Amino acid sequence: MNEENSRRNFLRGLVTAAVVVGFDTRLRGWVTARELAGGFHALADAFPTFDGSLLTDDASLDAAADDFGHFVHRRPVAVLLPGSVGDVVKMVRFARANGIKMAARGQGHSTQGQDQALAGVVVNMSTLSQVHEVNQADALVDGGVRWLDLLAQTVPQGLTPPVLVDFLELSVGGTLSVGGIGSQAFRFGPQVDNVLGLQVVTGEGELVNCSASQQPRLFDAVRAGLGQFGVIVGARVRLVAAPPSARLYHALYGDLGLFVADLLSLIDDGRFDTVQGFAAPDGAGGWLFQLEASKYFAPGHEPDDAGLLSGLSFIPGTQSSQDMTYFDYLNRLAPLVAFLRQIGAWFVPHPWVNLFVPSSSAADFVGGTLANLNPDDVGQGPVLIYPFNRGQFRAPFFRVPDGGHFFVFSLLRNAIPPTPERTAGLVAANRELFDGVTALGGKRYPIDSVPMTKHDWQKHFQPEWGRFVSAKQLYDPDDILTPGQGIF
Ligand SMILES: Cc1cc2nc3c(=O)[nH]c(=O)nc-3n(C[C@H](O)[C@H](O)[C@H](O)COP(=O)(O)OP(=O)(O)OC[C@H]3O[C@@H](n4cnc5c(N)ncnc54)[C@H](O)[C@@H]3O)c2cc1C
Repeated sequence: MNEENSRRNFLRGLVTAAVVVGFDTRLRGWVTARELAGGFHALADAFPTFDGSLLTDDASLDAAADDFGHFVHRRPVAVLLPGSVGDVVKMVRFARANGIKMAARGQGHSTQGQDQALAGVVVNMSTLSQVHEVNQADALVDGGVRWLDLLAQTVPQGLTPPVLVDFLELSVGGTLSVGGIGSQAFRFGPQVDNVLGLQVVTGEGELVNCSASQQPRLFDAVRAGLGQFGVIVGARVRLVAAPPSARLYHALYGDLGLFVADLLSLIDDGRFDTVQGFAAPDGAGGWLFQLEASKYFAPGHEPDDAGLLSGLSFIPGTQSSQDMTYFDYLNRLAPLVAFLRQIGAWFVPHPWVNLFVPSSSAADFVGGTLANLNPDDVGQGPVLIYPFNRGQFRAPFFRVPDGGHFFVFSLLRNAIPPTPERTAGLVAANRELFDGVTALGGKRYPIDSVPMTKHDWQKHFQPEWGRFVSAKQLYDPDDILTPGQGIF
């Protein structure tokens, strides 16, 4: 046997030995092939055989006890790499029968352990990642598919989901479990309102297709349901025509009130196809605000720059524009992400706070927060400020403020220095901001890092809390799914 073959066999042997083959009912632990060979075990009946594998090696458990936040670490006792939808069904049924907690993990971009399961099983959905169909009006995908992978298939065919998240390496199942917002959401609503159907493994281990007309209660529960009711194993995502190109405009504002007013007027008059805004320190103790908006076009039919920028109150001379393909527009964060990975900033703790602020309080709340914010407390992470039309947000469990419009206001913090003390201080600051925004009728986007009590969750979901609880009783009666959210 040559050296390469023997190395491969050795590695294969290691993996096989770490694969779980049973569950010890006496010790309430998983039994690997290696352990089974070594002695007696009281194995649970009907331990499933998986098409994929159930792992208990340290590297797999450590990886599942980490996420993009990098400061909450809840170690599971096993990680399932499903080889089929049937594997998810089997795992949920087995977990339910044996009182084991379970969490699906998409791409692990949660920031405070939402995708973790202490002493439970993490189902790593990245192995269910096939795009099954691309049709003119929809695509059928596995829950573990990343938006990037879907776009790689649809854009060459002139098709796209109408609304995308800014970072395309997130999973379809992960963002549909939380909401999914981006620069087009003011027009089309969040991603949960642009999905036509879902295939879900409920907490009872039933595989169910649901949509607005078929099992609508489950459809409403699972969209932005924070993983509480089922695992999304498949989704039929709405597609529309993809434009060939986008012209991306930037312009700076020194005055937050003017900035907020212009953002609102832009989503009302709809002159741009995408609208977002950011804040950054001005270097003199204050903040500058940046409009980022784009207009789609086909070459030969270039946008009218003067018309698009007319009537806006940005600082004269700060405007610029850049043409790019539609795909490059969608994937505009990729170069920055590559750079952050290269310099290591991607891997520091990220105690993010993402708030939805009622439009009527936006300028005051954002202005007051920034006035008291030491830029070091963001650690050069982006600060997002941009508006949505409330009427486009229909999924009942995606909780956003009442009123005609609301803003997302996000401090996408890097904890520098990356110590537990520093991170804890920033999480405490997040909690203060959360208290401030909820007093104004605001909400948090629960992808971020804000400690919540049960009472906070009740308030968060009002007036839908009763429906949330009864959906839990109906679809996950033994409360095995997604403990990391801390809702139940
Ligand atoms: C760099 C970065 C950029 C981001 N940009 C945006 C953005 O532009 N817009 C936006 O809306 N959000 C954004 N987010 C937040 C992101 O949408 C959420 O963190 C989302 O949960 C991440 O998807 P994921 O696949 O990593 O999910 P995970 O973090 O793996 O999971 C999120 C939650 O959903 C559950 N879950 C995961 N998969 C499934 C499934 N198949 N079925 C049921 N439950 C499941 C998990 O248990 C967990 O509770 C961003 C996050 C990061 C880190």
